[in-house]
Amino acid sequence: MDGDIVFYTHDDLIELNGTLLRAGELTVDILNLTPDEYAVMADTFKRAQAAEDDCGLDALDALLRRRKLFALLAPWQWEDFQHRLTRYERYLHDIRVFNTTIQNFIQHLVSHLLKNDPENYAAALHDFYTEPRFVQKYIVTPLTHGTDCYTTHDRYALSYVPREMADGHFAICEEQITDSIQAVLKADYMHALNAGRNILRCKVCGNYFMLKGGAHALYCEGTSPYDSRFTCRQFGTHEVQKELARDIPKLRVKLTAFERITKDMRREVITREEARIAKDTVRDALYDALRRSDLSLDDFEREVSSESVYTRCGITRKAKPRGRPKKDGAP
Ligand SMILES: [Zn+2]
Repeated sequence: MDGDIVFYTHDDLIELNGTLLRAGELTVDILNLTPDEYAVMADTFKRAQAAEDDCGLDALDALLRRRKLFALLAPWQWEDFQHRLTRYERYLHDIRVFNTTIQNFIQHLVSHLLKNDPENYAAALHDFYTEPRFVQKYIVTPLTHGTDCYTTHDRYALSYVPREMADGHFAICEEQITDSIQAVLKADYMHALNAGRNILRCKVCGNYFMLKGGAHALYCEGTSPYDSRFTCRQFGTHEVQKELARDIPKLRVKLTAFERITKDMRREVITREEARIAKDTVRDALYDALRRSDLSLDDFEREVSSESVYTRCGITRKAKPRGRPKKDGAP
């Protein structure tokens, strides 16, 4: 292994070059690398490669070091251009495969868990790694992604070392030596899951954030991109949405859609569980619609009409039990 990275894990901590972090922090930071930022990195790499230019690689290094993980790596010295090039190529590869795969895991499995605890995370990851439909669709492998590969095994040198950690306390740490960024990120993420920390994507701003198990949060505590007076969590609440509905028409449409669903539930033409599923669908559609300026209000209104939502969720309205007359001519 060349370009060795040495890091220590103990309990729910990870230490890299003298900096002690809560497991999961490095993962959140790298998952929040936007596709645009990545594209600039990939472009910078290609230009450096074509020009065989060390300065180009310096520029890429500077871009990478904006991310915690890379900021903490020791600078490499006395490396010839070809070695450097190969190393940065692997960095970009590892970012690409880790982010794609773990973002899929979060979106398609973790965010649907009903109970958030380490055992459920483990069971979800087991399904993700073993069920062919997940493996084929959501994990980056050479079968579907050219030469890209999210690996389930990484090469490490592992030893157990009693040592003083960066915060001064003594622990028997796992000292891990690897040349793979992917391996570091996996160690970080898996330790976070084992410690009961969950990483989710905020419905409002789209950023990844970490929370300590238990509650299933939909929103982060960052500033809402739609109104800086509120955090994303506040923006997601009914009261704030009501307050803002006048200025943000798509919010008004969503609130009306919620009211219709609640009414159907009260009239017992749909069940409580069906109402929840329908509301989840409308809510997801709202945040998607808010991010898309190309989606008109009319189109959004059609998208969250009861007909459209119930059809998408496989919900059929039952005949009303108490025989009151229908006003809206619903089936
Ligand atoms: Zn947010």
